[in-house]
Parts: sequence; structure tokens; C-alpha cells
Amino acid sequence: MNERNVKLGFAPSRIRELFEYGKKRKQEIGEEIVFDFSIGNPNAPAPEVVKTSLIDLLNNTDPRKLHGYTSNNGDKSVREEIAKYLNKTYGTSLTGDYIFLCCGAAAGLAITFNALLLKDDEVITFAPHFPDYRVSIENIGAKLIACNTDKNFQPDLSDLERKINNKTIIVLYNSPNNPTGVFYNEETIKNIASLLEIKQKEYGHPIYLMSDEPYRELLFDNQKYPFVTNYYKNSIVTYSFSKSSSLAGERIGYIVINPTCEEAFKIYKGICGAAWSLGYIAAPSMFQFLIPYMLGHTSDLNFYKENRNILYKTLTDIGFEVTYPDGAFYMFVKALEEDASKFADTAKEYELILVPSDSFGVCGYVRIAYCVSRETIINSKEAFMKLYQRYKGGK
Ligand code: PLP
Repeated sequence: MNERNVKLGFAPSRIRELFEYGKKRKQEIGEEIVFDFSIGNPNAPAPEVVKTSLIDLLNNTDPRKLHGYTSNNGDKSVREEIAKYLNKTYGTSLTGDYIFLCCGAAAGLAITFNALLLKDDEVITFAPHFPDYRVSIENIGAKLIACNTDKNFQPDLSDLERKINNKTIIVLYNSPNNPTGVFYNEETIKNIASLLEIKQKEYGHPIYLMSDEPYRELLFDNQKYPFVTNYYKNSIVTYSFSKSSSLAGERIGYIVINPTCEEAFKIYKGICGAAWSLGYIAAPSMFQFLIPYMLGHTSDLNFYKENRNILYKTLTDIGFEVTYPDGAFYMFVKALEEDASKFADTAKEYELILVPSDSFGVCGYVRIAYCVSRETIINSKEAFMKLYQRYKGGK
């Protein structure tokens, strides 16, 4: 038996563990009095176009096509529509031939890592980071190296420079970021790209810049999203409709290979092979065919913006130290004791379910997933006040 996988099965991620705890607790004492901020499960309904187009597809498409196998890399016309949409929106020069449809960003990441990495290769990402990166990378025998960020959780480029070595194959970033909600602007992406240009020359092999962007549209303050293929030749994107289209359970997303990548065609074939060997034989067909109708539509992102505004004000008014989130739907809050796990345990006493930052690769914070109902945000205020008073005193 593969003991490594058995161990993973016995030790679900901290997020999943708290999510299950939240479900149990809600059954025990009632949904309204448990403030479950554990998981990034979108609360804004999927855009209306999802329902109307699905009904339309069901009524007007030959069921043998709608529910049948598509090509392993995804339906060609859908891939072409995605390329057209991205080119129009971000001024890119992509083609459907280098897009691969997959079961959400999780599959996109696993497939890409399996296509590019060998045992002992290194992937650098910025801490704090999405915990599942490690699971996927270590499964190949490769290593995840955490790069420091500054006090605003922006990439520390000097540390990145120090950590790149001959084994570095991928530099991976996620913006807007889970768990901090911070956004990396155009200048940051350009700076990372310039550094990688120098480093890949120095080591004589490509270093891929990979952008994991399931929260791309979840930006609240009119920021312009810097699409990585515009800044760096050896770049790859993993995207998902899970978050901004609220389709997390449908498992649909895509991988984009920049056609300017060195050996782009070979990489694409490696992606096809990795997907096959991992058992990802084509993404769900009905949701593939839905994509052309959905491109450019999102769920009501203002719902999350308003949640952010209310919660940020509530927590900072109480006295918590909070990183201002530009996007995604997470808030990163300084724990009121050194051990974030203990702090999260204490929070549970007030029915607040917060995720300690240790699993994101840094100590001393908790993550609040504020993709919850407005009532949960508003009604949690008293619990947060009591939690703060427990540590800091006051009324
Ligand atoms: N990448 C990041 C940064 C995430 O936060 C998540 C999910 O929370 C994923 C990837 C996986 O998303 P998907 O549901 O598309 O597999």
C-alpha cells in the first residue's frame, strides 16, 4: 500500500477538518449561531446565465454530444472561445491549441506539476500559500520552497533571488492571494519576470513562471489584472470557474501554456500525458460546453466586496490587526497569541471557526474566509469582541 497516501487520507487538511467540525457544530447548536469562516466555498449564487444556458444546452443539444466524452484536452471550439476571450480581455496572443480544459485549478496544478517536474526539482512560492501546493508537489518527490514576503505580504525579491538555484523549475504565485487577499500589481509581475530572465540564463534552463489564478476576477478596487503571458515567455496559467463563477462543486477550469514558452508544443503534450497518467480523462463535458456562454460573467462580486468592507471595519474597530485584502475572499488576521492553533481553538469557544496560518506556511495568523452570508458577517461581531476582550481585557 502507498503509506504516504494513507497518511494523507488520515490527516485531512486543517481547512477540511475545520469545515467538517463546523458542519457538526451547526447540527448540534443551530446554523445561525456558528460563525464558520473555514472554507472558500462561494456564497454568492452562480450567475443567472449558468442556469439559463444549462437549460438551453439540455433542450437543444444532442445528449450523445452533451454527455459524451470530449477530446482529452477538451472540446476544440471551447478552447478556441477561451483563447478569444482572453485575447480580447487581456490583450494576449493565445491560441486554443495551447489551452487544456481540466477539473478546476486543483487538477490544473497537479497536471502541470506532473508534466514539468522530476524528483528533487524545486518549486518556489510565496508564503503564506495555498496548502495543497505542497501535497501535489511532494507526491512527485519534488520540493516546495517557501519564499518570504514583506510586511504587506508582497513578494520579497531578494529572498527569491537567494532561493533560486539550479534545481528551480517553477516559480509559482497566486494573486489575489489565498490566504491574505493581497494583489500583486503589474510592477511586481514585471520585477519577478526580469529576475527570472536573468536566472534562467545563468542556469541554462527554463524557469517557468506559473500563475495560479482562481480568484482573478475577485478584485474589488478597480485594479488591472496583469496577465502573466504578457510579461514573461515561459509562463503558464491555471484558472478555475470555482470561485468567481461560484461553480466550485462542478470541477471545471483550464490550463494556459504561453505559446512563446520554449518547447511549448512539447510542454502541451506533457500536460496531455500527465493528465492521462493521473486519470484526468477530459473535464466534465456539460460544463465544458457551458463555458462559451459564461465567459465574462461572474457571480455578484459586490457581495464579497461589501462583506470585506463590513468585516474589515468591524475587526479593525475592535482592535484586531488585519491585512487589507484587495481581492479573493480571505482576510488574514494577527492571532492574539503566538500559537495560532491555540488561538483558533480559543475562538471555537465563541463559535468562531478560523483557520490557523501554520498550514499556509507562516506562524501567528488566522485566515477568515468571508465568502459567507451577510448575516454571518454581521452576527459574528459580538463573538469577535468577546474573543478580543478575552486576550486584551476591556468591556
Ligand atoms: N488554488 C488556490 C489558490 C485555491 O485557493 C484553490 C481553492 O481553494 C485552488 C487552487 C483549487 O481550486 P479548484 O476548486 O478550482 O480546484
